[in-house]
Amino acid sequence: MNIAFSPPFIDQSVIDEVVESLKSGWITSGPKVKELEAEVVQLTKSKSAICVNSWTSGAIMMLKWFGIKEGDEVIIPAYSYCATALCILHCGATPVMVDISDDLTIDPLQIKKAITNKTKAIIAVDIAGLPCNYNGIKTIIRSSRIRKLFRPESEEQLKLGRILLIADAAHSIGSIYMGHSSALSSDITIFSFHAVKNVTTAEGGCICLNLPGFFNSIEEYNFLKIFSLNGQNKDAYAKSRGANWRYDILYKGLKINMPDICAAIGLAQIRQYKRRLLPIRKQIALKYCQALCNFEWFIPPLLKDSSRESSYHIFPVRIKNITEAQRDQIIEDIVNLGVTVNVHFVPMPMLTYFKKSGYNIENYPNSYKQYACEISLPIYPGLSDEDTDYIIDAVVSVVESQLRNNKPKELVHIQ
Ligand SMILES: *Cc1c(COP(=O)(O)O)cnc(C)c1O
Repeated sequence: MNIAFSPPFIDQSVIDEVVESLKSGWITSGPKVKELEAEVVQLTKSKSAICVNSWTSGAIMMLKWFGIKEGDEVIIPAYSYCATALCILHCGATPVMVDISDDLTIDPLQIKKAITNKTKAIIAVDIAGLPCNYNGIKTIIRSSRIRKLFRPESEEQLKLGRILLIADAAHSIGSIYMGHSSALSSDITIFSFHAVKNVTTAEGGCICLNLPGFFNSIEEYNFLKIFSLNGQNKDAYAKSRGANWRYDILYKGLKINMPDICAAIGLAQIRQYKRRLLPIRKQIALKYCQALCNFEWFIPPLLKDSSRESSYHIFPVRIKNITEAQRDQIIEDIVNLGVTVNVHFVPMPMLTYFKKSGYNIENYPNSYKQYACEISLPIYPGLSDEDTDYIIDAVVSVVESQLRNNKPKELVHIQ
């Protein structure tokens, strides 16, 4: 048995769409990107959607759009992929990390404590596909006390008049919050279309704008399309039509546009996402829950509650009363049975760069606690019933034998 962790979904329709792009003679940003943006708008009901070449570059652009710069603070959870912090650092600002709740998403109470008069934005991460407690976060940033602390320093900051809420929705395309697409819960929602994500363009990302009504989403869309292509007022596609060679540079933009050949992959996937691919992920998640909930050591992931439903991007198993070393051993043993598993995430304060920058994992006890006992199982449409049966058997046999051989510390001490 050899089960991959998260291979991309490539069926004939994906291949056909890519071949069509190749044969069309147009492979960089053009009609396929526009079509993908329209599909994202349709799926999420967002006001507008802009495709870029990664989540990371999209986040850098949106922080720059809001005027985030040196001296500013942006609040993020310690428990995420490094990109959540790096986009802030690339704007010269300071990531202020806070701890998470037991559902693995950022804890609104910790956000409240971390807000200062330098706080310009919050990036909340929909870990594993589960939407954050957006109502809790919005109550805080809209409160009059917190609004009074806000010091606007750019046109956009003046216009918004409060802390900007960005969703790191790298995991959560298709997830639901309060009965709607979770993308509608923040001012700006950014999806990742990296190869391992639910919908992929190999590398890519998509920014959904749902800013308050006093922002004009068509104007912001047009601005961001230009800004994401070196600030050039016409893209190569527009220039290639007729005698349209002359262009101008309007801003000090970034070069982060998505090519059509990449959009083609995501386009063929997103067209069957809601109807077919997402339900398969859900089915696998429910099967894992059903099989593992019989075991006392299993802490199930939160997949759905009264306000939200996950996009089933990651299936994070947590195991009661084990140490980080035991977890590592369990992973090694599962991998030896031919099942590739993963950990989401090593909290950023444990990574060398962030440690050197002064972040200390001791300040994020719940992030460490969750990380130390976490194992992510494979979950994707290509898994067969036999595959998931095999994965469940492998996890159960390895964990049970680990727990038999290494009794929890408390028990060892009582003699
Ligand atoms: C994958 C991921 C990103 C980065 O996405 P890219 O498209 O690779 O830039 C950001 N945040 C989280 C939580 C992710 O898992």
